[in-house]
Amino acid sequence: MKDNFKREINYLRISLTDRCNLRCIYCIPQEGVPLKPHEEILRLEEIIHLVKVAADVGISKVRLTGGEPLIRKGIVNLVRVLSKIPGIDDLAMTTNGILFPRFGPELKEAGLTRVNLSLDTLKPERFREITRGGDWEQAWKGVETALELGLAPVKLNAVIMRGTNDDEIMDFVELTYKYPLHIRFIEYMPIGEHSGWEERKLVTQQEMLGQIEKQYRVQPVMGIRGMGPAKYYNLEGSRGSLGFISPLSSCFCAYCNRLRLTADGRLRPCLHSTQELNLRDCLRSGASNQELAELFQTAIKGKPERHTMNEEGWKGRARFMQQIGG
Ligand code: SAM
Repeated sequence: MKDNFKREINYLRISLTDRCNLRCIYCIPQEGVPLKPHEEILRLEEIIHLVKVAADVGISKVRLTGGEPLIRKGIVNLVRVLSKIPGIDDLAMTTNGILFPRFGPELKEAGLTRVNLSLDTLKPERFREITRGGDWEQAWKGVETALELGLAPVKLNAVIMRGTNDDEIMDFVELTYKYPLHIRFIEYMPIGEHSGWEERKLVTQQEMLGQIEKQYRVQPVMGIRGMGPAKYYNLEGSRGSLGFISPLSSCFCAYCNRLRLTADGRLRPCLHSTQELNLRDCLRSGASNQELAELFQTAIKGKPERHTMNEEGWKGRARFMQQIGG
Protein backbone atom coordinates (compact mmCIF):
# COMPACT_ATOMS: atom_id res chain seq x y z
CA MET A 1 0.00 0.00 0.00
CA LYS A 2 1.24 3.51 -0.81
CA ASP A 3 1.56 6.30 1.75
CA ASN A 4 0.73 9.96 1.15
CA PHE A 5 4.16 10.53 -0.41
CA LYS A 6 3.76 7.70 -2.97
CA ARG A 7 6.11 5.38 -1.09
CA GLU A 8 5.17 1.68 -1.25
CA ILE A 9 5.10 0.48 2.38
CA ASN A 10 5.79 -3.25 2.39
CA TYR A 11 8.23 -3.79 5.25
CA LEU A 12 7.56 -4.37 8.96
CA ARG A 13 10.31 -4.45 11.57
CA ILE A 14 9.28 -6.12 14.80
CA SER A 15 11.04 -5.72 18.14
CA LEU A 16 10.50 -9.10 19.80
CA THR A 17 11.77 -8.01 23.19
CA ASP A 18 13.17 -4.95 24.92
CA ARG A 19 15.76 -7.17 26.62
CA CYS A 20 19.30 -7.68 25.33
CA ASN A 21 22.30 -9.82 26.27
CA LEU A 22 24.70 -6.94 25.45
CA ARG A 23 24.83 -3.32 26.64
CA CYS A 24 26.18 -1.39 23.65
CA ILE A 25 27.33 2.09 24.65
CA TYR A 26 25.44 3.82 21.82
CA CYS A 27 22.20 1.94 22.40
CA ILE A 28 21.64 1.38 26.11
CA PRO A 29 22.72 3.68 28.96
CA GLN A 30 25.12 2.27 31.57
CA GLU A 31 22.36 1.95 34.16
CA GLY A 32 20.13 0.08 31.69
CA VAL A 33 16.58 1.11 30.84
CA PRO A 34 13.39 0.29 32.69
CA LEU A 35 12.15 -2.96 31.14
CA LYS A 36 8.48 -3.51 30.46
CA PRO A 37 6.72 -6.18 32.54
CA HIS A 38 6.17 -9.40 30.58
CA GLU A 39 2.41 -8.91 30.32
CA GLU A 40 3.00 -5.65 28.43
CA ILE A 41 5.12 -7.37 25.78
CA LEU A 42 3.32 -8.87 22.78
CA ARG A 43 2.81 -12.61 23.09
CA LEU A 44 4.01 -14.78 20.20
CA GLU A 45 0.47 -15.58 19.07
CA GLU A 46 -0.31 -11.84 19.07
CA ILE A 47 2.71 -11.16 16.87
CA ILE A 48 1.57 -13.88 14.47
CA HIS A 49 -1.95 -12.45 14.40
CA LEU A 50 -0.66 -8.95 13.64
CA VAL A 51 1.68 -10.17 10.89
CA LYS A 52 -1.24 -11.95 9.20
CA VAL A 53 -3.19 -8.67 9.24
CA ALA A 54 -0.11 -6.78 8.04
CA ALA A 55 0.27 -9.20 5.12
CA ASP A 56 -3.32 -8.40 4.13
CA VAL A 57 -2.47 -4.70 3.86
CA GLY A 58 0.55 -5.38 1.66
CA ILE A 59 3.45 -6.11 4.02
CA SER A 60 5.68 -8.71 2.36
CA LYS A 61 8.97 -8.29 4.24
CA VAL A 62 9.36 -8.83 7.97
CA ARG A 63 12.47 -8.33 10.07
CA LEU A 64 12.75 -9.63 13.62
CA THR A 65 14.86 -7.46 15.86
CA GLY A 66 14.90 -6.14 19.40
CA GLY A 67 16.45 -5.97 22.00
CA GLU A 68 18.06 -9.24 21.10
CA PRO A 69 15.60 -11.39 19.15
CA LEU A 70 17.45 -14.62 19.94
CA ILE A 71 16.77 -14.34 23.67
CA ARG A 72 13.02 -14.45 23.02
CA LYS A 73 11.69 -17.86 24.06
CA GLY A 74 10.01 -19.74 21.20
CA ILE A 75 11.92 -17.85 18.49
CA VAL A 76 12.33 -20.89 16.23
CA ASN A 77 8.63 -21.72 16.27
CA LEU A 78 7.77 -18.08 15.69
CA VAL A 79 9.96 -18.07 12.58
CA ARG A 80 8.40 -21.34 11.44
CA VAL A 81 4.89 -19.89 11.62
CA LEU A 82 5.71 -16.42 10.26
CA SER A 83 7.58 -17.85 7.28
CA LYS A 84 4.44 -19.70 6.19
CA ILE A 85 2.10 -16.71 6.29
CA PRO A 86 0.82 -16.14 2.75
CA GLY A 87 2.22 -12.90 1.36
CA ILE A 88 5.34 -12.84 3.56
CA ASP A 89 8.16 -13.66 1.16
CA ASP A 90 11.13 -12.34 3.10
CA LEU A 91 11.71 -13.07 6.78
CA ALA A 92 14.97 -11.65 8.11
CA MET A 93 16.57 -10.98 11.47
CA THR A 94 18.97 -8.48 12.99
CA THR A 95 21.01 -9.96 15.83
CA ASN A 96 24.26 -9.44 17.69
CA GLY A 97 25.07 -13.04 16.72
CA ILE A 98 26.09 -14.22 20.20
CA LEU A 99 23.42 -16.94 20.19
CA PHE A 100 23.41 -17.50 16.44
CA PRO A 101 25.65 -20.61 16.47
CA ARG A 102 23.05 -22.24 18.71
CA PHE A 103 19.91 -21.17 16.83
CA GLY A 104 21.10 -20.50 13.27
CA PRO A 105 20.69 -24.02 11.80
CA GLU A 106 17.19 -24.44 13.24
CA LEU A 107 16.19 -20.92 12.17
CA LYS A 108 17.26 -21.58 8.61
CA GLU A 109 15.35 -24.85 8.56
CA ALA A 110 12.32 -23.01 10.02
CA GLY A 111 12.33 -20.51 7.14
CA LEU A 112 14.57 -17.56 8.06
CA THR A 113 15.73 -16.09 4.77
CA ARG A 114 18.45 -13.66 5.80
CA VAL A 115 20.39 -12.34 8.75
CA ASN A 116 22.12 -9.06 9.56
CA LEU A 117 24.72 -9.27 12.28
CA SER A 118 25.78 -6.25 14.30
CA LEU A 119 29.53 -6.08 14.87
CA ASP A 120 31.17 -2.72 15.47
CA THR A 121 34.75 -3.81 15.89
CA LEU A 122 37.15 -6.59 14.93
CA LYS A 123 39.11 -6.16 18.17
CA PRO A 124 38.03 -8.38 21.08
CA GLU A 125 39.09 -5.94 23.80
CA ARG A 126 37.30 -3.06 22.10
CA PHE A 127 34.22 -5.25 21.64
CA ARG A 128 34.17 -5.78 25.40
CA GLU A 129 34.22 -2.01 25.89
CA ILE A 130 31.60 -1.13 23.25
CA THR A 131 29.20 -3.86 24.39
CA ARG A 132 30.09 -3.47 28.09
CA GLY A 133 31.30 -7.03 28.59
CA GLY A 134 30.52 -8.97 25.39
CA ASP A 135 32.76 -11.74 24.04
CA TRP A 136 33.94 -10.96 20.47
CA GLU A 137 34.78 -14.60 19.72
CA GLN A 138 31.18 -15.59 20.35
CA ALA A 139 29.86 -12.80 18.11
CA TRP A 140 32.31 -13.77 15.36
CA LYS A 141 31.18 -17.41 15.59
CA GLY A 142 27.72 -16.04 14.84
CA VAL A 143 29.07 -14.46 11.64
CA GLU A 144 30.82 -17.71 10.67
CA THR A 145 27.64 -19.67 11.29
CA ALA A 146 25.60 -17.35 9.04
CA LEU A 147 28.19 -17.73 6.28
CA GLU A 148 28.34 -21.53 6.64
CA LEU A 149 24.55 -21.73 6.48
CA GLY A 150 24.56 -19.71 3.29
CA LEU A 151 22.01 -17.19 4.56
CA ALA A 152 23.18 -14.88 1.80
CA PRO A 153 23.62 -12.02 1.60
CA VAL A 154 25.13 -11.93 5.12
CA LYS A 155 25.29 -8.30 6.16
CA LEU A 156 27.46 -6.97 8.94
CA ASN A 157 26.23 -3.75 10.58
CA ALA A 158 28.91 -1.51 12.09
CA VAL A 159 28.05 1.77 13.80
CA ILE A 160 31.09 3.99 13.30
CA MET A 161 31.88 6.43 16.11
CA ARG A 162 34.73 8.92 15.99
CA GLY A 163 37.33 8.16 18.64
CA THR A 164 35.88 4.67 19.27
CA ASN A 165 36.17 2.54 16.12
CA ASP A 166 36.69 4.93 13.18
CA ASP A 167 40.25 3.58 12.86
CA GLU A 168 38.79 0.22 11.74
CA ILE A 169 36.98 1.31 8.58
CA MET A 170 39.74 -0.15 6.38
CA ASP A 171 39.81 -3.38 8.42
CA PHE A 172 36.11 -3.87 7.67
CA VAL A 173 36.76 -3.16 3.98
CA GLU A 174 39.54 -5.80 4.00
CA LEU A 175 37.11 -8.32 5.46
CA THR A 176 35.09 -8.29 2.21
CA TYR A 177 38.15 -9.70 0.41
CA LYS A 178 38.31 -12.66 2.80
CA TYR A 179 34.59 -13.39 3.17
CA PRO A 180 31.44 -12.80 1.10
CA LEU A 181 30.26 -10.21 3.61
CA HIS A 182 28.24 -7.09 2.92
CA ILE A 183 29.49 -4.47 5.35
CA ARG A 184 27.04 -1.75 6.21
CA PHE A 185 28.56 1.26 7.88
CA ILE A 186 25.85 2.96 9.94
CA GLU A 187 26.02 6.60 10.93
CA TYR A 188 25.85 7.04 14.69
CA MET A 189 22.34 8.37 15.42
CA PRO A 190 21.11 10.40 18.40
CA ILE A 191 18.68 7.74 19.59
CA GLY A 192 17.61 7.24 23.20
CA GLU A 193 18.27 9.94 25.79
CA HIS A 194 21.78 9.75 27.28
CA SER A 195 23.04 7.50 24.48
CA GLY A 196 26.25 9.56 24.54
CA TRP A 197 25.69 10.95 21.06
CA GLU A 198 27.62 14.11 20.17
CA GLU A 199 27.91 15.65 16.75
CA ARG A 200 31.70 15.39 16.81
CA LYS A 201 31.41 11.59 17.10
CA LEU A 202 29.42 11.35 13.88
CA VAL A 203 31.46 10.02 10.96
CA THR A 204 29.47 10.70 7.81
CA GLN A 205 29.15 8.50 4.76
CA GLN A 206 31.06 11.08 2.71
CA GLU A 207 33.98 10.99 5.13
CA MET A 208 34.09 7.18 5.22
CA LEU A 209 33.79 6.83 1.46
CA GLY A 210 36.45 9.49 0.95
CA GLN A 211 38.89 7.46 3.06
CA ILE A 212 38.04 4.22 1.30
CA GLU A 213 38.33 5.70 -2.20
CA LYS A 214 41.93 6.71 -1.48
CA GLN A 215 42.88 3.02 -1.38
CA TYR A 216 40.20 1.11 -3.28
CA ARG A 217 38.25 1.39 -6.52
CA VAL A 218 34.58 1.51 -5.59
CA GLN A 219 31.56 1.38 -7.90
CA PRO A 220 27.94 2.12 -6.91
CA VAL A 221 25.86 -1.06 -7.20
CA MET A 222 22.15 -1.79 -7.53
CA GLY A 223 20.07 -4.84 -6.79
CA ILE A 224 21.38 -6.60 -3.65
CA ARG A 225 18.46 -8.49 -2.13
CA GLY A 226 16.90 -6.56 0.75
CA MET A 227 18.82 -3.43 -0.16
CA GLY A 228 16.55 -1.03 1.75
CA PRO A 229 17.84 2.48 2.23
CA ALA A 230 21.54 1.59 2.22
CA LYS A 231 23.71 2.84 -0.63
CA TYR A 232 25.88 -0.01 -1.87
CA TYR A 233 29.28 -0.05 -3.54
CA ASN A 234 31.28 -2.84 -5.11
CA LEU A 235 34.99 -3.09 -4.53
CA GLU A 236 37.20 -4.35 -7.29
CA GLY A 237 38.14 -7.99 -6.61
CA SER A 238 36.15 -8.26 -3.40
CA ARG A 239 33.78 -11.11 -2.46
CA GLY A 240 31.27 -8.82 -0.73
CA SER A 241 30.27 -5.19 -0.89
CA LEU A 242 30.06 -2.01 1.16
CA GLY A 243 26.91 -0.20 2.16
CA PHE A 244 26.22 3.01 4.00
CA ILE A 245 23.18 3.80 6.09
CA SER A 246 23.35 7.54 6.40
CA PRO A 247 20.18 8.90 7.97
CA LEU A 248 21.95 12.06 9.11
CA SER A 249 24.18 13.08 6.23
CA SER A 250 22.00 11.92 3.35
CA CYS A 251 18.43 11.45 4.47
CA PHE A 252 16.90 8.43 2.70
CA CYS A 253 13.33 9.00 3.87
CA ALA A 254 12.13 9.35 0.27
CA TYR A 255 12.87 5.61 -0.10
CA CYS A 256 11.51 4.54 3.29
CA ASN A 257 9.28 1.48 2.94
CA ARG A 258 8.84 0.50 6.57
CA LEU A 259 6.72 0.45 9.68
CA ARG A 260 7.93 -0.66 13.11
CA LEU A 261 6.14 -2.68 15.74
CA THR A 262 7.52 -2.10 19.23
CA ALA A 263 7.98 -4.92 21.74
CA ASP A 264 4.89 -3.66 23.60
CA GLY A 265 2.75 -3.64 20.50
CA ARG A 266 2.84 -0.03 19.28
CA LEU A 267 2.93 0.56 15.56
CA ARG A 268 5.38 3.34 14.67
CA PRO A 269 5.25 4.88 11.22
CA CYS A 270 8.80 6.27 11.59
CA LEU A 271 11.79 5.44 13.80
CA HIS A 272 12.18 9.07 14.82
CA SER A 273 8.61 10.31 15.12
CA THR A 274 6.80 9.92 18.47
CA GLN A 275 3.59 8.92 16.72
CA GLU A 276 2.45 5.42 17.76
CA LEU A 277 -0.75 3.37 17.45
CA ASN A 278 -1.55 0.96 20.25
CA LEU A 279 -2.25 -2.29 18.38
CA ARG A 280 -1.76 -4.44 21.47
CA ASP A 281 -4.64 -2.97 23.44
CA CYS A 282 -6.94 -3.04 20.42
CA LEU A 283 -6.08 -6.67 19.81
CA ARG A 284 -6.57 -7.56 23.47
CA SER A 285 -9.92 -5.82 23.61
CA GLY A 286 -11.19 -7.91 20.72
CA ALA A 287 -10.70 -5.71 17.65
CA SER A 288 -11.60 -7.46 14.41
CA ASN A 289 -9.03 -8.07 11.68
CA GLN A 290 -10.75 -5.35 9.67
CA GLU A 291 -10.25 -2.86 12.54
CA LEU A 292 -6.62 -3.88 12.95
CA ALA A 293 -6.05 -3.55 9.20
CA GLU A 294 -7.46 -0.02 9.39
CA LEU A 295 -4.89 0.82 12.08
CA PHE A 296 -2.11 -0.38 9.77
CA GLN A 297 -3.59 1.77 7.00
CA THR A 298 -3.75 4.77 9.36
CA ALA A 299 -0.08 4.25 10.24
CA ILE A 300 0.87 4.05 6.56
CA LYS A 301 -1.09 7.19 5.73
CA GLY A 302 0.42 8.89 8.80
CA LYS A 303 4.05 8.34 7.81
CA PRO A 304 5.85 11.67 7.99
CA GLU A 305 7.65 12.78 4.87
CA ARG A 306 11.02 12.74 6.62
CA HIS A 307 12.63 12.45 10.04
CA THR A 308 13.80 15.53 11.93
CA MET A 309 16.77 13.93 13.68
CA ASN A 310 19.21 16.53 12.40
CA GLU A 311 17.14 19.40 13.77
CA GLU A 312 15.79 17.87 16.97
CA GLY A 313 18.03 14.98 17.98
CA TRP A 314 16.13 12.67 20.34
CA LYS A 315 14.79 15.49 22.53
CA GLY A 316 11.69 14.57 24.52
CA ARG A 317 11.40 11.08 23.03
CA ALA A 318 10.82 8.54 25.75
CA ARG A 319 11.91 5.37 23.99
CA PHE A 320 15.21 3.58 23.47
CA MET A 321 16.34 1.75 20.35
CA GLN A 322 15.91 -1.74 21.77
CA GLN A 323 12.26 -1.02 22.63
CA ILE A 324 11.50 0.28 19.15
CA GLY A 325 13.60 -2.25 17.28
CA GLY A 326 16.75 -1.09 15.53
N1 SAM B 1 20.34 -6.89 19.30
C1 SAM B 1 20.27 -6.86 17.90
C2 SAM B 1 21.57 -6.39 17.28
O1 SAM B 1 22.49 -6.06 18.03
O2 SAM B 1 21.68 -6.39 16.07
C3 SAM B 1 19.11 -6.07 17.33
C4 SAM B 1 18.77 -4.76 17.96
S1 SAM B 1 19.92 -3.46 17.69
C5 SAM B 1 19.07 -2.14 18.50
C6 SAM B 1 19.69 -3.16 15.98
C7 SAM B 1 20.66 -2.24 15.31
O3 SAM B 1 20.49 -0.93 15.79
C8 SAM B 1 22.11 -2.61 15.51
O4 SAM B 1 22.73 -2.85 14.26
C9 SAM B 1 22.69 -1.38 16.17
O5 SAM B 1 23.99 -1.17 15.78
C10 SAM B 1 21.75 -0.28 15.72
N2 SAM B 1 21.78 0.89 16.61
C11 SAM B 1 21.41 0.96 17.90
N3 SAM B 1 21.60 2.21 18.40
C12 SAM B 1 22.10 2.96 17.37
C13 SAM B 1 22.51 4.32 17.22
N4 SAM B 1 22.46 5.17 18.25
N5 SAM B 1 22.97 4.73 16.02
C14 SAM B 1 23.04 3.85 14.98
N6 SAM B 1 22.66 2.56 15.05
C15 SAM B 1 22.21 2.11 16.22
